[in-house]
Amino acid sequence: MTPSTDPIAIARALIRCPSVTPAEGGALQLLAGLLESAGFKVERLRFSQPRTATVENLYARIGEGSPHLVFAGHTDVVPPGESDAWTHPPFSAEIAGGELYGRGAADMKGAIACFVAAASAYLTAHDGKPDGSLSLLITGDEEGTAINGTVKLLKWAAERGIRFDQCLLGEPTNAERLGDAMKIGRRGSLNGTLIVRGKQGHVAYPQLAENPIPMLVALMTRLMSEPLDHGSEHFDPSHLEFTSVDVGNPTVNLIPAEARARFNIRYNDRHSRDSLKRLVKMRCRNAADQGARVSLEFAPSNSDVFLTASGPFLDLVVDTVVEITGQRPSLSTSGGTSDARFIKNYCPVVEFGLIGRTIHQIDERVALSDLMALTAIYRLVIDRYFAKANTTAPLPAATHSGSGEAPS
Ligand SMILES: [Zn+2]
Repeated sequence: MTPSTDPIAIARALIRCPSVTPAEGGALQLLAGLLESAGFKVERLRFSQPRTATVENLYARIGEGSPHLVFAGHTDVVPPGESDAWTHPPFSAEIAGGELYGRGAADMKGAIACFVAAASAYLTAHDGKPDGSLSLLITGDEEGTAINGTVKLLKWAAERGIRFDQCLLGEPTNAERLGDAMKIGRRGSLNGTLIVRGKQGHVAYPQLAENPIPMLVALMTRLMSEPLDHGSEHFDPSHLEFTSVDVGNPTVNLIPAEARARFNIRYNDRHSRDSLKRLVKMRCRNAADQGARVSLEFAPSNSDVFLTASGPFLDLVVDTVVEITGQRPSLSTSGGTSDARFIKNYCPVVEFGLIGRTIHQIDERVALSDLMALTAIYRLVIDRYFAKANTTAPLPAATHSGSGEAPS
């Protein structure tokens, strides 16, 4: 196989691999071949854990020195849904009207194809060697439980002394047009259950029972009516949404002993997981009747809020997007979580990919012109990242020296 610099051909080949999470579907095998022929050293990694599906992942690297730029992404896709409802079959990668159809076209095999094409073109122009290290961290476990994927890949790399200076994540960040948005952070996510305990009894003798439902409704009303905050510089206001109310009462003449309501909070950088738990507990305590038996349970969460601080790499990507697409991307933190929540513990991460409008839908598709434009963006980002890093003098270690302040 010769190194490919054609993002459309790579994207079509990837879409034809039916890698519905957690199946590998041949997608990583295909990538491994392309990357090896471009000069990368490729490692295939299988991670497993009891009661979860074993997942295949891939780490590819070329170059040894610093700086180290890593591209992250996933080859797994969500199921196609009703295949007959698609205008073109979900795994046939057909092109019609200037668009490439298929599951994963936008989320996110298309962006992986763009990066592979861009990296191959960069290496061809640089005698097959980057001015530093260039890596790809590709998981097959993003659309699933995210247990045997990026988390373990990052840990595996850290244990081998692999350090990344900067990550570019290729999730579909744009809303309507290529260049309209990139992600510089993500909200945190926390799941909880509100439980009110009463006393079971006959519905005809309510004075002998204690119905937990009115108290649950009162507490829910309180939690829904009072904002958690009013947003921050880069984030929308945090939001609590109830997702289920459960009494589980199969009869018509029984006052239940217990009532529960489940909720999810998407929270911004005004909170931490712990401060939110304290806030919700305090609001429930204040709103509950004296003696009411109210408790809160929170599910373990691995989705903390984060924000990538502004810096030269963010500026570099923004400038490149402006140059290629003619528009300045908004720096967004909206939407769901992504693997950036794990990567941010190892290095700064910026997300920019294709358009998210059709992801997870019937007829997921991407414009061929967007694949070409994203490839051009990635190519310039790689070029400029290494050029800049190798011409800029390293920053002094103590930036506060001479100011009379202690370094913070
Ligand atoms: Zn995705």
